[in-house]
Amino acid sequence: SYEIHLKSRPDGMPTQANFECVAVPIPEAGEGEFLVKNEWMSVDPYMRGRMKDADSYVPPFALGEVMEGGCVGRILHSNHSDFSEGDYVLSNQGWRDHWVGNGQGVLKVDIDQAPASSYLSVLGMTGMTAYVGLLEIGALKAGETVFVSAASGAVGSIVCQIAKIKGCRVIASSGSKSKIEWLKQKAGVDEAINYREVDDLSAKLRELCPDGIDVYFDNVGGDHLEAAIDQMNEFGRIACCGAISGYNDTNPSPGPSNLFKIIGKRLRVQGFIVRDHQALQPQFAKDMSEWIQSGKITWEETVSEGIENAPQAFISLFEGDKMGKALVKL
Ligand code: NDP
Repeated sequence: SYEIHLKSRPDGMPTQANFECVAVPIPEAGEGEFLVKNEWMSVDPYMRGRMKDADSYVPPFALGEVMEGGCVGRILHSNHSDFSEGDYVLSNQGWRDHWVGNGQGVLKVDIDQAPASSYLSVLGMTGMTAYVGLLEIGALKAGETVFVSAASGAVGSIVCQIAKIKGCRVIASSGSKSKIEWLKQKAGVDEAINYREVDDLSAKLRELCPDGIDVYFDNVGGDHLEAAIDQMNEFGRIACCGAISGYNDTNPSPGPSNLFKIIGKRLRVQGFIVRDHQALQPQFAKDMSEWIQSGKITWEETVSEGIENAPQAFISLFEGDKMGKALVKL
């Protein structure tokens, strides 16, 4: 059995040398416990924050310990009355082949209802982040104009489609030709910007949003945030979900130079963390299942095979050409 440990803390862009693939014995389930074989592991940008030794809303990963994170696995053997062999479970046990649980922090998932991997993507944490950020934090209303950054990613791709379902005009930003094609053809956005080919993002947004932006769903921060603030309408809302453009900075980047516009425009700029909004989970599960069944939401997963490829899948979040949710299949 193998586990991926954090070997050293990255300085700037993470590299393979920051991780170690370690062989360990398969653990044994004691009384009231069960043994799980992971089949899917989640690869997420927030993990970069946990690789730093810094105060945050989640504690840092410990050196020499497993990279914790979302995973879905099958129970191989159970001594627990509520869990049976063959059950599929979602947990935060992270990048490892096998683990033993006692039920705490473990949720059963029904793989006859939806594919196991979808509980880490569209029906899981990233889908829920899109739902909470757009509807609760962004307080989206029909007919508004929405701008979404990192729009082809796990969160962004779902944000774009929920906004279309809600009758909004959607402007998406992403970093490659194929992602722009997908956003237009599959996600049905109204306009898509390849930010790598645009010199002046603010001017591009002005051109594409002559009536301004009502909601900006920010996954990127930096220049995207600055350009969005320029084009926001009065009483607009910015849902601050992530700021991936700065996660690997060794020196903090300067903030947007136009923050004063928040005042005159009476903007509401609000950060959020999805796990604070568990009360919305049942409504999210119901809406998302209906949207999937009726063909209103589609999603992509970029799958790396083998636990040893998890570090590369993670590095690719920052510089690769991944579509939708990044996952590792074991
Ligand atoms: P994604 O699937 O969107 O993967 C990251 C993507 O970000 C990349 O594919 C890349 O796409 C884009 N990107 C990477 N570097 C840059 C850069 N320097 N400038 C602009 N874009 C960049 O990840 P997720 O959907 O899982 O997460 C999206 C954001 O949401 C992240 O910031 C994450 O931290 C945040 N998040 C927040 C949560 C919360 O509770 N607040 C929960 C989950 C995620 P491209 O080719 O388009 O550049």
